[in-house]
Amino acid sequence: TETLSETQEIIQDNLDYTLFSWSKQKGQNPIAVKYAEGVYLYDYDGKRYIDFSSGLMNVNIGHGDQRITQAVVKQMQEVSYVTPSCVTKVRGELGKKLAEICPGDLNKSFFTLCGATSIENALKLARTYTGKHKILSRYQSYHGSSYGAMAASGDPRRIAADSQQAPNFVHFDLPYLYRWEYGEEALLKESIASLERMIAYEGSANIAAIILEGESGSSGCLQYPVGYLQAVRSLCDKHGILLIMDEVMSGFGRTGKWFGFENHGIIPDMICMAKGLTCGYLPFGCLMVSDKIAAKYDDTVLALGLTYSAHPVSCAAALETLKIYEDDNLIENAAAMGKYVAEQVELMKAKHPSIGDFRTTGLLGCIELVKNRITKEPMAPFNAKPEEMVVMNKVAAKIKELGMYTFVRWGYVFIAPPLCVTKEQIDEGLAIISEALLIADESL
Ligand code: PLP
Repeated sequence: TETLSETQEIIQDNLDYTLFSWSKQKGQNPIAVKYAEGVYLYDYDGKRYIDFSSGLMNVNIGHGDQRITQAVVKQMQEVSYVTPSCVTKVRGELGKKLAEICPGDLNKSFFTLCGATSIENALKLARTYTGKHKILSRYQSYHGSSYGAMAASGDPRRIAADSQQAPNFVHFDLPYLYRWEYGEEALLKESIASLERMIAYEGSANIAAIILEGESGSSGCLQYPVGYLQAVRSLCDKHGILLIMDEVMSGFGRTGKWFGFENHGIIPDMICMAKGLTCGYLPFGCLMVSDKIAAKYDDTVLALGLTYSAHPVSCAAALETLKIYEDDNLIENAAAMGKYVAEQVELMKAKHPSIGDFRTTGLLGCIELVKNRITKEPMAPFNAKPEEMVVMNKVAAKIKELGMYTFVRWGYVFIAPPLCVTKEQIDEGLAIISEALLIADESL
């Protein structure tokens, strides 16, 4: 009788008894990861994969860091859980550290479980604080998969549940420079003018908040025109609208600064955090609010709550993670390595006619592949159907075969390795992508 190898058995149990996100259940071919270290994942057969998307752009400090394990074990030996109405040393210390990292008067943390729960609580707080109900957000955005966060997302992942969408979410378009013919200045002017018209149509008296990613992530790193966030900040101030920055993906050094919005010289009213806060060592998130907002709840009930808010073990993981960013100079390294990636991809353009554009802020970047550089016809369109993904699926399969894990979506190949990545590891990863891109080049 045929026996399954250990790897096959592990994969089979997962296929038989677990469900996979955002995909058809048949035809999955997952990597079975046995252990991981730094920028590398290792499967049960000993094959090594370089992780060029830091998991889901969250494992910023790299995999397998035993400093986190020790911090977590130490906390668990003392106490693993207290209700959110009790406190721990680590919760206060983490709040204090985050207040130090965040600019302006963003000093008060409400600890959550993940990105979506940070977003949900930001939306609820924006509504109760302002007494207004509408939320404006960008079509080209993802804010999470729970009801409010999904409704705020413009991403087509929301569409399957659109008929039950939460009310009072309004999306706006913000074109990106590569696909805009009239120059950056005109892009800024037109996009701000159209947002201002939209505020008038929806009624500023009804709009609680505008929510935007600190830097665009899974929509394809579609960068803001220079001056855009400053202009949005001014519009918010003018119309009494709160500005919420979703830093779930762009936060914690990913863009070469603590937060993506710091590349744009603004200070928001609230920051949603998750991913890089604990780098996936444990699930965790945080909603950071300004002293001004927090002060309202000195004498009014703050109607937010989660059984696992401020979970001590996650707080311990987060506190240690923040220390590692500083001890290992990871944010400086992200900025430097981001520049290096940009230089190297620029050289790759000469070799690969399928590369249309490359956009990165620090180490939050992606290559956009096209069928034609002149017409910019995308290799796979926005919300591509399976039959439009034939070439990209082959590119993705090649990347995996050559020993890389990275996020490939529509015509985008993401380059977002852990912030501890070295030049040599970037060279190694780009060589794999370069080889896989031959498939795209040949399809032209
Ligand atoms: N916001 C952004 C910008 C994200 O990229 C994500 C997840 O990818 C989320 C929110 C949701 O985070 P989570 O999946 O932890 O709920």
